[in-house]
Amino acid sequence: MNIANNTFKTLKDLDKAHYLHPFTDLQEHKQKGGDIFSRAEHIYIYNSEGKQLLDGMSGLWCSNLGYSQPTINKAITQQLEVLPYYNSFFQCTHQLAVDMAKSLVEVTPPQFNKVFFTNSGSEANDTNIRLVHRYYNLLEKPNKKQIISRKNAYHGSTVAAGSLGGFNGMHEQYTGVNYVHHIAEPNWFGYDGELDRDAFGKHVAQELAAKIDELGEENVAAFIAEPIQGAAGVIVPPETYWPEISKICKERDILLILDEVICGFGRTGNWFAAETYNIEPDLLTFAKGVTNGYQPLGGVMVSDKVADVITCNEGEFTHGFTYSGHPLACAAGIATLDILKNEQVIEKGAADIMPYFQARLRSLEDHPIVGEVRGVGMLAALELVKNKSSKERLAPDCEGGAICKMHAIEHGLMVRSVGDAIVTAPPLICSREEIDLLITRLTIALDYTAKHYG
Ligand code: PLP
Repeated sequence: MNIANNTFKTLKDLDKAHYLHPFTDLQEHKQKGGDIFSRAEHIYIYNSEGKQLLDGMSGLWCSNLGYSQPTINKAITQQLEVLPYYNSFFQCTHQLAVDMAKSLVEVTPPQFNKVFFTNSGSEANDTNIRLVHRYYNLLEKPNKKQIISRKNAYHGSTVAAGSLGGFNGMHEQYTGVNYVHHIAEPNWFGYDGELDRDAFGKHVAQELAAKIDELGEENVAAFIAEPIQGAAGVIVPPETYWPEISKICKERDILLILDEVICGFGRTGNWFAAETYNIEPDLLTFAKGVTNGYQPLGGVMVSDKVADVITCNEGEFTHGFTYSGHPLACAAGIATLDILKNEQVIEKGAADIMPYFQARLRSLEDHPIVGEVRGVGMLAALELVKNKSSKERLAPDCEGGAICKMHAIEHGLMVRSVGDAIVTAPPLICSREEIDLLITRLTIALDYTAKHYG
């Protein structure tokens, strides 16, 4: 189809004709087209009709500092003039990749002194698989290849990262790798057994021990998990969950991979949720917030325990990407970490806006269709129900969440719906007034949704 011939009149038509969107119903998109966003400022996004939305999702949980950060822009454009691209293969390096690695080592937990750069969280989790398999091969434990993950986890969308993930909808569409096994996630709201929250946390963690026993410890390489499961609908684990998981990983010869792609860089009130939950991972996945979403960058922080093995044996680590440690991505990353550090965004956020955000959201617990409010730091979800005590859904097929999201967007608030949960993760730099605005718009959306099912 020849675009120059002006066959299509609008951007929307061109979008429908040529652009296959990620995580989108492609048939629906072909018919209706997408929502076009044309600019962003501070914590607001604007669509092509000029409508303003408060971005209650920080993009895809990544623009933690919002959209107006001139020092990040400047760092990228300055680097363009100096060294727009070079690679890190075959012993090559450049200033920005080294500086970025050093900056990350400074802000991550003390066991991490090395980093492997990727372009995304998905590639970083693929890298984790390459690292743990190499680690155990070098330790002459070649049978340790199995990896345990959780149902409804999201670890990315490459074939291997998608296999680590636990979404049926993804697994139904392709055949993943055969060495990943899924145990239950610590979903307290979805649990209707006899145990109290703490006992449930320990109980569900014990599924890890049971799975290791089933597979044989000699065959299991690692357990991977998000500290709080984001894409599953912000599943906040009971306080007892992570201590039990940590104990199991330490007692057995199992590496712990913590996927901090959403939680990292301040979202839970600490630099990393490893600190929030006192977890000591062997490998830590990062992406998204590391550049404030301004450039694609991800990676794996590698603990001394793993690094000592993979760097003290001869032979190339046959893994990497053309853009690993890309200078422009590193420039954005260094500038982002500098802002977080110098302006004490996380410390100030944890002292004020995060508790304020959580308290204001909890005031919605009384709303007739809110069954639960859960969250930590600047990350939260509201579970929508028809009946608070039976937890009966608003409608079959989780339509209620989608209806509420539609009303939120109509009233100037971008949120995400996950089943019947409404998820929100606004930028860390929101003011109290902006959180009030978010709550006002969310309340209107809830009211309209209640009326819809009333
Ligand atoms: N891990 C987690 C926890 C995520 O939430 C995501 C993306 O949402 C990923 C990994 C994948 O990251 P990317 O989309 O950069 O590949």
